[in-house]
Amino acid sequence: MSTAPLTFAVHRNANPMPEAERVEAFRNLGFGTLFSDHMAIIDWHADRGWHSPRITARAPFQIDPAGSVLHYAQEIFEGMKAYRDVNGRIVLFRPDENAKRFNASARRMAMPELPEADFLAAIEQLLAVDAAWIPEAEGASLYLRPFMFASEAFLGVRPSREYIFSVIASPVGPYFKGGAKPISIWVSQNYTRAAQGGTGAAKCGGNYAGSLAAQAEASANGCDQVVFLDAAERNWVEELGGMNIFFVMADGSIVTPPLGTILPGITRKSVITLAQDAGIAIEERPYSFAEWQADAQSGRLTEVFVCGTAAVMASVGTVKSAEGSFQIGNGTGGPVTDRLRNTLIGIQRGAIPDPHGWVRVI
Ligand code: PMP
Repeated sequence: MSTAPLTFAVHRNANPMPEAERVEAFRNLGFGTLFSDHMAIIDWHADRGWHSPRITARAPFQIDPAGSVLHYAQEIFEGMKAYRDVNGRIVLFRPDENAKRFNASARRMAMPELPEADFLAAIEQLLAVDAAWIPEAEGASLYLRPFMFASEAFLGVRPSREYIFSVIASPVGPYFKGGAKPISIWVSQNYTRAAQGGTGAAKCGGNYAGSLAAQAEASANGCDQVVFLDAAERNWVEELGGMNIFFVMADGSIVTPPLGTILPGITRKSVITLAQDAGIAIEERPYSFAEWQADAQSGRLTEVFVCGTAAVMASVGTVKSAEGSFQIGNGTGGPVTDRLRNTLIGIQRGAIPDPHGWVRVI
């Protein structure tokens, strides 16, 4: 098996979306409903390793009814954005981190790792043919979805001997329809997301399937998002269905739950670094729901924010659970969240210096 970087064959879509139709679709971007003309694919076979890298017209996969992903859910994915910076250059934010996390997920799910250079080449090759799909409006971007699934036809619980890696792309507008309005979150006391030794730190599809009933409960209770507590004690705050969470105290310090059963968010990691750069004391430590309630009531807790690639950073205004609801600060966010968000977005958009070299020009 060769370790040289793969070279992608490019088969252009014979029927791309007409430009006028795309421009019209860009006028009202949602999230994850519109897709670009092409996709990247790399196949893996136990006897051959990674092979047949190609860019093709976006089209359905053919999958055998016994395809193992359909039964045993060996599937992982990533989420990242390509967008234009203030100088009009096409950029990605810390894509090497997505490549690394993809392989960490692969190891946890007993799937083959994809060399980081090939993960990044698949994305760059796709962007080269679908550059026109990167929206230019403020806050809009081309959301990239690298993913891998088990494609061998067999029934039996063991790792598949065949996988398909692919990247698709979806032009998106802002994640929260309410704009910068603070969000409300529902504390799930019925459902948990991940236990020690489980798959919480992996970005595997099953984690998200398991979160849907909890998210439905949040929506039924009028909340935007669900926040999970730990599985062992139902005491410690973990994360949201698709975002990490931070607590800002009146003395200016910040607390965020430690890694282990949560997804190691790349936005989370970046926010921690930016807080440290700004001289803010930031602690990764367990924070309980009881502490959260008490700190909100006493005024010790002044801001809560959540972060992830899709939504970037959002303030939490209201917290609800079966025990009742409470507000964070005056319910409208706060200066620490605003400052960190402005720094992060400023770096991402190339509007301020990028001291850590996070932005990668394509
Ligand atoms: N937690 C979960 C469960 C997620 O799905 C995501 C989104 N990938 C995050 C946190 C945030 O991670 P990132 O900042 O890398 O997007």
